[in-house]
Amino acid sequence: MKPPAAIDHVIVVGAGVIGLACAHYLNKAGLRVTVIDRATVGSGCSYGNCGYICPSHVLPLTEPGAIATALKSLFNPKSAFRVTPRWSPTFWNWMWQFARCCNQRQMLAAGRHLKAILDSSLDEYKRIVREESLECEWTEKGLLYVLQTEHGMEEFAKNDRFLTENFGVTAKRIEGEALPTFDPALQTGLAGAFHYPHDVSIRPDLLNAAWVERLRTRGVTFIENCELRQIKKAAGQITHLETSVGDMQADRIVFAAGALSARLATTLECRIPIEPGKGYSVTMERPAVCPQHPMLFPEHRVGVSPFRTGYRLGSMMEFSGFNATISAQRIQQLRDSAKPYLVEPFTDGPQQTWFGWRPMTWDSLPIIGRVPRLSNAFLATGHNMLGVSLATATGRLIRELLLDEKPHIDPAPFSPLRF
Ligand SMILES: Cc1cc2nc3c(=O)[nH]c(=O)nc-3n(C[C@H](O)[C@H](O)[C@H](O)COP(=O)(O)OP(=O)(O)OC[C@H]3O[C@@H](n4cnc5c(N)ncnc54)[C@H](O)[C@@H]3O)c2cc1C
Repeated sequence: MKPPAAIDHVIVVGAGVIGLACAHYLNKAGLRVTVIDRATVGSGCSYGNCGYICPSHVLPLTEPGAIATALKSLFNPKSAFRVTPRWSPTFWNWMWQFARCCNQRQMLAAGRHLKAILDSSLDEYKRIVREESLECEWTEKGLLYVLQTEHGMEEFAKNDRFLTENFGVTAKRIEGEALPTFDPALQTGLAGAFHYPHDVSIRPDLLNAAWVERLRTRGVTFIENCELRQIKKAAGQITHLETSVGDMQADRIVFAAGALSARLATTLECRIPIEPGKGYSVTMERPAVCPQHPMLFPEHRVGVSPFRTGYRLGSMMEFSGFNATISAQRIQQLRDSAKPYLVEPFTDGPQQTWFGWRPMTWDSLPIIGRVPRLSNAFLATGHNMLGVSLATATGRLIRELLLDEKPHIDPAPFSPLRF
């Protein structure tokens, strides 16, 4: 495809999964693409996450019960969902707006918008992974939500009914006695599980590496250790970027800087209400009795990712600012959370501990679209807990908006104008 003559070169700021997806679609549209990153490609939040591409995750974090959970967490240092109060008007405004969204009406509305972009993204992934032969441990085994207690089972059943009635997303219910046959890595005596068969999983670091390699062969330029420091503007446009390796110019600029995008708000003259939602993972060798399915344990809020080349436990949602420490206690908690469920919950060999800052918006929706006051700038950020799942549709939407093509899904709910 030939782009309009006025657009030749696009710079994408941020080489996480969102930046890579944007680069993919812009490159396919025939544009010259340069991706810059302050660190190395795929080393931010897109590195050590759980790797679920999960259309079953239609419900946003802004559920009616979320505020009660947040308040309880103030008094429980072991809570997987934790808010650390700090003096910051921006943070408290974010929390206030988040609290306002935690109601049934807004949860349903956000869920409908998420469903559209989740479904589109999965379709796009299926095509891209096949066409580009991306070696990323693509696995079509669904996602299994395992419950320890009967109470948990009944609560989850309500949730599943709600998803069926409102979004047409239905799980297969598996009773406790059938679980060890369904997945022999699960202990006996668990209450049961719900299996969402259409979810997919990948190994995120492999996806990033394979995608970068493919994009490089197609002519996309990657510049690592290149930090965006200043944005120079004139007449409602960005004229050039000042980076740690020198000045850069392009016809269009896409900002895909993940949780750090919020720092660009003043210079981009628009609101980017993103708070870092810190999560952790620990990756180790596969246990001898390794789960056959990616799993979530909702009562302990932990995810299990059985890769072909390893095994990962991931979880937690901490609102503690840009805190970059990994406490041994949180990692131990991750390991302990898997104990009630799995025959062999972890292995004792070498382990890689990791944290990532999820880019959390207060309404649980990503921010995708043109920067209101700068005609050649676009935002692709704020993907919350679903950046991997939403990347491809985001990249496609960015291409469509940037080239004034007809968008394949309604972009209005994701517009930066909504703030
Ligand atoms: C424990 C955990 C588990 C998760 N599991 C899943 C899952 O199973 N499925 C799912 O869909 N999502 C999951 N997520 C969420 C997902 O990881 C994120 O939503 C996603 O990685 C965000 O991608 P991104 O490209 O926006 O951000 P990032 O990957 O953080 O990329 C942003 C990049 O921008 C660069 N950057 C920032 N500022 C600048 C600057 N000034 N100059 C140059 N470069 C800059 C950074 O260096 C970084 O590389 C999980 C997250 C966590 C923490």
